[in-house]
Amino acid sequence: MLKKFPKTHLFAAGGLSLAIGAVLMFSPGSKVEANRISIPLPLHGESTPQSSTDSSSIFATPKQNIASEVAEALPSQDETANLDDEGAASDIVVTSDYEDQPHQELVESSLASEADLGEWKSYQIKSGDTLSVLFQRAGFSAQDLMKVLAADKDNNLRKIYPGNTIEFNSLDGQLNKVRLKRSLLESTLVSRSADGSFTTEVIKREPEAHPAFGAGTITSSLYAAGQSAGLSQGLIMEMANIFGYDIDFALDLREGDQFNVVYEELYLDGKKIGYGNILAANFTNQGKTYTAVRYKDQNNRVSYYKPNGQSLRKAFIRTPVDFGRISSHFNLSRKHPVLNRIRAHKGTDYAAPTGTPIKAAGDGKVIFAGVKGGYGNVVIIQHGQSITTLYAHMHRFAKGIRVGTRVEQSQVIGYVGSSGLATGPHLHYEFRVNGVHKNPTTVKLPEAAPVPKQEMARFKQQTATLLAQLDTFAESHRLALNAQ
Ligand SMILES: [Zn+2]
Repeated sequence: MLKKFPKTHLFAAGGLSLAIGAVLMFSPGSKVEANRISIPLPLHGESTPQSSTDSSSIFATPKQNIASEVAEALPSQDETANLDDEGAASDIVVTSDYEDQPHQELVESSLASEADLGEWKSYQIKSGDTLSVLFQRAGFSAQDLMKVLAADKDNNLRKIYPGNTIEFNSLDGQLNKVRLKRSLLESTLVSRSADGSFTTEVIKREPEAHPAFGAGTITSSLYAAGQSAGLSQGLIMEMANIFGYDIDFALDLREGDQFNVVYEELYLDGKKIGYGNILAANFTNQGKTYTAVRYKDQNNRVSYYKPNGQSLRKAFIRTPVDFGRISSHFNLSRKHPVLNRIRAHKGTDYAAPTGTPIKAAGDGKVIFAGVKGGYGNVVIIQHGQSITTLYAHMHRFAKGIRVGTRVEQSQVIGYVGSSGLATGPHLHYEFRVNGVHKNPTTVKLPEAAPVPKQEMARFKQQTATLLAQLDTFAESHRLALNAQ
């Protein structure tokens, strides 16, 4: 009698960022005391010493229980970008514990169908492997490697990570092809041409997306409710991002809050390989319901809107670092900690570990990126005509950040450090309107642009089905719950 909704699976995994944990574990505030029920996780309230800034408790559950959702298979993951940017896995040598195990050799029968001649050998890349070791293992020479690398203009093969698969095809005793499989969706193929040189192509496959549905009610935390609704960690995080301008998931969440989500499940060759985007969702927080629908505009910009076309976003995010703790407030008569004299503090300081990513508060253009006296490494962004934001004491800038660079809201522009006059690693953040410093924590943030008038008909037409699906799913879920 109880209708079951599609439940998805969480795969075990490591790569997702700690950032996710913090938002997911935020629990309802203390106002839920009256209707508490027995739950596995403690509620945050007066009676519990935990707070949402206690990182150890925030991270504990996700790190242990959650697993990855085939993150490497998804098309545009930030994780990939992070690897590149931080150089965590070095270019050629695979860094991390090396296991000296016999390497399994597989011949893929399916490859025959691709009309490849010759013999294939396949190796799963392990920590400590280098390209030259892998070539040697497959029976090819340093010269073969040189020729292949010469054809690898974009350095695709130079970036190998544990878990990638490398395959060698030999024909008449000569190296014919090398294929590096990054994921189910992306591989690099280097092939020998008639003249003996090699050419490279990157092959990308597109998974099929099918809509799926999840619904949940908050009992202990957003994360727990999302998990029991069958949502992946990434989807729960995405939901928190979508509604995060209206709902403060650290403070506003209450027991009994409810959500419905239509999202994509990704399939490749009939097999589910992961999760795509949230297509439509609603979240009822303390009796107020917010609805969001995904829309790609005529300039191919994707955003979430209310059904009437208003944006769910503000033009600025309030805090440009995750998990930063305010260490010094905007204060026009503060004694400077290093200079030890009165000097207005015209910004907000967020203490965070060195290397924590700093995000652009809004869309804009970089008008300064360099060293500025006591501010150390500084980025200044111009947003429209009247607003500039400033980010100081950076450890370093993110790749590609220089004067003239266009940045999008939440794009990483640099990393927390203590360059210039700073007592410890923190972000000094300033928000100026027409040149006047405003308090970044209280300044009224403008709304992001709505769907343009001339696009409203298109918006209505493209989102109608998604919103109808959301309503239908939500209604049958509600009926199913009532029938219990
Ligand atoms: Zn400061």
